[in-house]
Amino acid sequence: MGDTKLYDLLGVSPNASDSEIKKSYRRLAKEYHPDKNPQEGERFKEISFAYEVLSDSKKRQIYDSYGIKGLQEGHHVDGFSDDIFSHLFGGGLFGAMGMGFGGGGRRRKQKGDDTIHPLKVSLEDLYNGKTAKLQLSKNVICSTCNGEGGKHGSSQTCRACHGQGIKLTLRQLGPGMVQQMRSVCPDCRGEGEVIKDKDRCKVCRGNKVVNEKKILEVHVDKGMRDGQKVQFRGEGDQKPGMEPGDVVIVLQEKPHPHFQRNGNDLYMNHKVNLTEALCGFCIAIKHLDGRDLIVKHPPGEVVKPGTIKGIQGEGMPIYRDPFEKGNLYVKLDVEFPPDHFAEVEKLKLLEKLLPKRPLCKIPQGEHVEEVDLHDYDPNTSRSQGAGRFSEAYESDDDAGVHMGPGVQCAQQ
Ligand SMILES: [Zn+2]
Ligand SMILES: [Zn+2]
Repeated sequence: MGDTKLYDLLGVSPNASDSEIKKSYRRLAKEYHPDKNPQEGERFKEISFAYEVLSDSKKRQIYDSYGIKGLQEGHHVDGFSDDIFSHLFGGGLFGAMGMGFGGGGRRRKQKGDDTIHPLKVSLEDLYNGKTAKLQLSKNVICSTCNGEGGKHGSSQTCRACHGQGIKLTLRQLGPGMVQQMRSVCPDCRGEGEVIKDKDRCKVCRGNKVVNEKKILEVHVDKGMRDGQKVQFRGEGDQKPGMEPGDVVIVLQEKPHPHFQRNGNDLYMNHKVNLTEALCGFCIAIKHLDGRDLIVKHPPGEVVKPGTIKGIQGEGMPIYRDPFEKGNLYVKLDVEFPPDHFAEVEKLKLLEKLLPKRPLCKIPQGEHVEEVDLHDYDPNTSRSQGAGRFSEAYESDDDAGVHMGPGVQCAQQ
C-alpha cells in the first residue's frame, strides 16, 4: 500500500477498524468544523473527504489498492464537487506528493453542457439516507463508426459553408444599406462537414452518437437538503471532440404529513385537549426512522395554547456530521371542550378547582343596562346587513347560551 494520506488525515493507521475511523472522524470534524473554526474550512473538507472514502468499504478498497487515482478514475465519490478534487489533486495536499493530475498546464477539451435532473426524496430518505436508482437516457459516441458518422474518411467539408458551419447572407435594408446575417448552415447543421447518404453509419444514421439507457446510483446522504446537488462527473451526453458534461441530480424534498423542516431542525404540531393541558399528557411521536418517541408532560405544568417545546437532538442529522442532529420542536395547540360538555351543576364542581374568578361589581342606577353577547361572524355582520345578523341573534337566544354579565354575576 503506497498511499496512506487519507488515513494520515484522520490520524489513524491503515489497519484501523471502522469504529476507530468513525471515532477519529467525529473528533476531528468537531474540532475543524467551519462553525467553530472558519479558517480551517479546507481542512474540514479534506477530513470529510477522507471519511467519505474510508467509511465506505467499497471506496476504501479502491483507495487501498489504487490510491487516490483509483477513486478519481471511474469511481465517483458522490456529493463531492470538482473543487474538492481540484483542491486535493491540483493544489497542495496531493500535488506535493507528485499525485497531482488534471490540473495545471494541460489544455482541456471543450466541455459539454451539464444535464440536470430533479430527484424527489422524502424527509425519511433525507433522515436515514438512501441509494436511489435513476434511469437516464444519454447520448454516447456510436461504437460502430467510432463517432465519425460513417466509414472512416467519408466525411467531407461542407460545400455550402466551406466548413465554417455558418452561412452569411446579405440583406438589402435600403439604398446603400446592407445587413449581414449569420445563420447555422442548413446543409451540415453547423457541423462544417457532411457525409454522403451511402457512406453513413447504419447504426447512428450519421449522427455520430446513439441513445443509451444508463442507471445511476444516487447516494442520498443523511442530512442532505432540498436543492442540494449530487454530481456525476462526465456522465452527461457525449459528443465527438467534446468532454462530456456532468449529470447533476438536484434533490427535491417532498412535503411531510407531520414534520416541517427548517435547516437541521424539525417542527411539528400536536393538539392536546384541555384536560391534558391542565392535568398532564403523554404522547407518542413516530419518528422518521420508525422509532416512537414517548413524551410525558407532568400534571401541574399548564400548557398554554401555542406553547412550543423542544426535544434536543431529535431533529435532522447534520450533513457530513450525521452523529450530530438538530432539534425537534413541538407546538402544542389546546383544544377546548365543546359547548355544554358538562351540566351546569357539575361546572360548579369544576369551578371549585379552577382559579377564582374576578369579582364583578355591578353599578346601580338608571344608566345601567344589561345587554347580550352573541357570536361574531365577520361575513354576516359586515356585508350582509341586519337581516342575517338578527337571525344569528335569535338562534343564539333559542340555545340559551347567553353569558351576560347579569347571569355571570348571579352565579357568584
Ligand atoms: Zn455547411
Ligand atoms: Zn455510427
